[in-house]
Amino acid sequence: MIKKYTLILLVSACSYSFAQDLSVSEKKIIRRVEANHEASIRFLEETVNINSGSQNPEGVRRVGQLYSKFLEDLGFATSWIDMPTEMNRGGHLIAELKGNKGKRLLLIGHMDTVFEEDSPFQKWERKDSIAIGPGTSDMKGGNMVLLYALKVLHEAGELKDRQIVVILHGDEESPGRPIAISRKDIVALAKRSDAALAFENGTGFEYATVARRGSSSWTLEVQAKQAHSSGIFSENSGAGAIYEASRILNRFYEELQEENLTFNPGLIAGGTQVLMDSSGIKAEVSGKTNLIANRAVVQGDLRSLTTAQLERARTKMKAIVADHLPHAHAEISFRDGYAPMPPTEGNLALLAVLNKVSLDMKLGEVKAFDPGKRGAGDVSFIATYVDVLDGLGVQGGGAHAPGEFVDLHSVEAIVKRTAILFHRLTNN
Ligand SMILES: [Zn+2]
Repeated sequence: MIKKYTLILLVSACSYSFAQDLSVSEKKIIRRVEANHEASIRFLEETVNINSGSQNPEGVRRVGQLYSKFLEDLGFATSWIDMPTEMNRGGHLIAELKGNKGKRLLLIGHMDTVFEEDSPFQKWERKDSIAIGPGTSDMKGGNMVLLYALKVLHEAGELKDRQIVVILHGDEESPGRPIAISRKDIVALAKRSDAALAFENGTGFEYATVARRGSSSWTLEVQAKQAHSSGIFSENSGAGAIYEASRILNRFYEELQEENLTFNPGLIAGGTQVLMDSSGIKAEVSGKTNLIANRAVVQGDLRSLTTAQLERARTKMKAIVADHLPHAHAEISFRDGYAPMPPTEGNLALLAVLNKVSLDMKLGEVKAFDPGKRGAGDVSFIATYVDVLDGLGVQGGGAHAPGEFVDLHSVEAIVKRTAILFHRLTNN
C-alpha cells in the first residue's frame, strides 16, 4: 500500500513538472490529447487496415474518405484532386480552414504506402508497446499525429480564425508522372503559406529535418569500335566501350567525392549487343571474350544538398565523359528528380520554435538531422517557396519493409508536442 502511494505521488509530480513551462491554454490542449489518446490509436489501426498501395487508387480513395470526414468534422472544407486516369494514382486530399491569425500553415502527409495489394504485409498487429502494420510509421502514423493535433486544438477552441491547409498525397511513395501535374497543387499551396510541416516518420524526439538532399538520375551511353580482341589498345582499334565506361566511372569515383554529394552507378551493361529495356532497370547483353565491346550503358543516381552542388557535379561529369579514349565516344544525360533542399534560415527558425516547445515540455533539445541520412520527400518540391520542417511523424522503424512498426509509447507525447507547435505558430 505504501509503495503504491509513493508511486502515485511520483506520477503526479512528473506530470506537474511536465507541464510547468506551458501556458494555461497549452495545458488545456495537453489534457485534450490525453483524453483522445485511445481513440487516436484506434483511428490509426483503422487506416492501417485499409490497403492503400501507391498503385491501388481505390484503396487510397477509401482511406482518403476517412481523413476527409475527420477534417470536415473539425470545420475544414475538403476537396479531392483526381489525377489523370493514365497516371494510375488515387489523387490527393486537400482540406482548408480559413482565418487571419498567426502563420499560414501547410500540413503535409501521404495516404499511400509501399505495400501493394499483393504484399503479404497487410494488417495491424499490436504487440505490447509497438504495433506492426503497413504504413504504421510511414506514414499513416504521421497523418494521425497531424489530424489529432488539429482535433485537440478544435476541442480547446484554438482553431478559430486560423489559416491551415492540409494536403495528403496519394502517391508519395511513387509520385505520378509528370511531376508538374502530380505536385502542382502542393506548389500552389506552398506559395500562399508561411510554414510547411511534414509528418514523415520521425528520427527520434531529438531530431527534425531542415535540409535534405535532392535526388536525380543520369544515363551514360558509350560507343566504340568493334574489332578482334587481339588488337585491343592498338592505334586502329582503341580500347573499346567497356574500358571507356570504366575510365569514366573510375574518374567519377576519384574526382567527384565531396561532402553531401553521392553518385551511384546502379546498373551497367556492356558488350557487342546491348538492349536496354524501356523501364531503364533491365538490360539484355551479349559479347565475346575475343571481341572488343562496342557498346556500354550505365544508369546511376546523383544526390546533392544544393542546386549549385548538383550543377557543379554535372559539369565535372560531362568534362570527364568528354575526355574520350581513342575510337570511343560517350555521352551522359541527366534527368531531374527531387530538388535539393538546403538548410535555410527560415527552416532553422521553425526548428527553433519546435525546440522551444520540446524544452518547455521537458522532452529535450531538438536538433537538425544530418541531411546525408534523410531520403527525398515531398517537401523538396516546395522548399524554395516556403519555410519547411519534416520528420515530425511518429517514432517507429522498419519503414518500407514487412515488419514496419510504430512505437505506441511515443505517440501521446508527439501529438502533444505537435499540437503545442501548431498553437504557437498560429497564435500571434
Ligand atoms: Zn513516407
